[in-house]
Amino acid sequence: MAEECIFCKIAGGQLPAEVVYQDEQVVAFKDIRPVAPVHILIIPRKHIPDLTAITPEDKELLGHIHLVAVQIARELGLAERGFRLVNNCKEEGGQVIYHLHFHLLGGRPLQILG
Ligand code: AMP
Ligand code: ZN
Repeated sequence: MAEECIFCKIAGGQLPAEVVYQDEQVVAFKDIRPVAPVHILIIPRKHIPDLTAITPEDKELLGHIHLVAVQIARELGLAERGFRLVNNCKEEGGQVIYHLHFHLLGGRPLQILG
């Protein structure tokens, strides 16, 4: 855990969050400033600062994150309608919090990216 990382604190239960799913590897919780009717953040418990910091060791974890995203999307009725799973990487990608996370967005038609 990185000491001043708010997502490590959420994963460790030291900061509150509306958790919708958790297991040994990941935690999923509602984004505090939702931009769509469904806006959930899926994070690994492991502190990985951004997507460029992944290693071959993280292959299983990244696959697991995608399976969890689909499971949550199904539970929330988004699997048929569709949704977006997105990672903002570093400054020009719009990353604000430097603990790897994927945004699960849905519940309305989404605009084209960019
Ligand atoms: P990003 O720009 O990809 O780094 O996204 C960071 C996201 O974290 C933003 O959508 C924020 O609204 C969200 N966020 C920041 N602090 C919290 C928090 N304490 N609980 C839930 N979501 C948060
Ligand atoms: Zn962290």
